[in-house]
Amino acid sequence: MIVCKFGGTSVGDAAAITRVVDIVTAKLDQQPVVVVSALGGATNQLLDLAHKAADGELLAALDIIAQLRDRHLHEAQALLAGTSDAEALALEIGSAFEELAHLAEAFRTLGYLTPRSLDAVAAVGELLSSQIVAAAFRQRGLPGVYVDARDVVRTNDLFTRAEPDTEAIARACREHIVPLLQQRRIPVLGGFVGSTAGRVTTTLGRGGSDYSASLIGAAIDAAGIEIWTDVDGMLTADPRVIPSARLIERISFDEAAELAAFGAKVLHPATIAPAVQRGIPVYVFNSRKPHGTGTMIAFDAPRRPVRAIAGKRGTTMIKLRSSRMLLAPGFLRRVFEVFETHRTSVDVVTTSEVSVSVTLDDTHHLGAILQDLAAFGDVSVERRSGVVAVVGAGIADGSAALAQALAALGPIPVHMASLSATGINFTLVIDDEQVVPAMQRLHTAFFGASA
Ligand code: ASP
Ligand code: MG
Repeated sequence: MIVCKFGGTSVGDAAAITRVVDIVTAKLDQQPVVVVSALGGATNQLLDLAHKAADGELLAALDIIAQLRDRHLHEAQALLAGTSDAEALALEIGSAFEELAHLAEAFRTLGYLTPRSLDAVAAVGELLSSQIVAAAFRQRGLPGVYVDARDVVRTNDLFTRAEPDTEAIARACREHIVPLLQQRRIPVLGGFVGSTAGRVTTTLGRGGSDYSASLIGAAIDAAGIEIWTDVDGMLTADPRVIPSARLIERISFDEAAELAAFGAKVLHPATIAPAVQRGIPVYVFNSRKPHGTGTMIAFDAPRRPVRAIAGKRGTTMIKLRSSRMLLAPGFLRRVFEVFETHRTSVDVVTTSEVSVSVTLDDTHHLGAILQDLAAFGDVSVERRSGVVAVVGAGIADGSAALAQALAALGPIPVHMASLSATGINFTLVIDDEQVVPAMQRLHTAFFGASA
């Protein structure tokens, strides 16, 4: 058994959905469960119309409803014209949007939205896309069966970011999914959507379809989870900064989590944790290039000193110098309490006997923080800082990679350096405008010059 999840762009229109059917057809012997996002952009539009309605812009909301309805009808028609499913699905789509129009009127009257009502609206995207995709399988003569995710993904009632009940999900999978797989049928579910024990619709939070796929994969003990998206996989650097960035074929979960912290947007590792923790490999593939190698994320990947280069601009560096730090237990705790008081998390930290330096991404409370820190010693602040990191589970296995990283930076001044204790990244704080050249130099040093 495997889980194949397709993101919004991979089910964006009839042509994309046809590719999904082709991809899954080639995997039938692996007993795939299919999880799909809403048609690309639909979730944003659904949330937008709800907000517009509550803000009194009912006509604008109804306009979005009409657009979305026509888009769903159009793609369903393109895929299913002439089949017995076509009419039933058109009715289903029509009534879903009619109900949304009633909801929009209710929001206009109320003048506000609740998280619960937002989930009811947002869920429509996945509930419809999954029915369309299931019918697209049948149109090709394959046994696609729509399964309502609300019968499977049991959650608590923390609307808009509901938390899964993994035991209830495992039970529901045994009841609703495994029997279909045993009959060689293809279950198709919407991602992102769940429901409470009282069967009120919930969602797992934005981008939650990966989470659904991973929860279902963990529940059925899948042999693998495939995340089909619109990029080739995870890369050795952000391709917008390093056009010659290369595909990473295998990466450990910890390394992937580290890259996500730097804004790598392929997937959020937290959402695949349920599967990875059970030793289920997660693959990222490009649905436009189904024969690509993709990236495999596993609990363990072959240890390499350097897996990728990451960078981030626009951080702020604070340096605190104080002779009172000498032999003063509890000093650092009091310093960090300042950041806690002002609800600001610190990113990179380095200390010496008489100083402590930190970087911040969020400077909303910088003024108050500096004022409080002044009580401890001399404070200086550099707002135009940036961070580059060399990420690899084997980075600290020897000193060669560290030496190579520093040598690669050449004339670029380094203000702070930090090697994480778990040896997963070597982070350097530099001037903001040096982040891009530093990433280029590091990438060339570890992965070669542009092809
Ligand atoms: N459609 C949802 C969103 O856009 C969930 C997902 O695509 O993963 O956030
Ligand atoms: Mg998405």
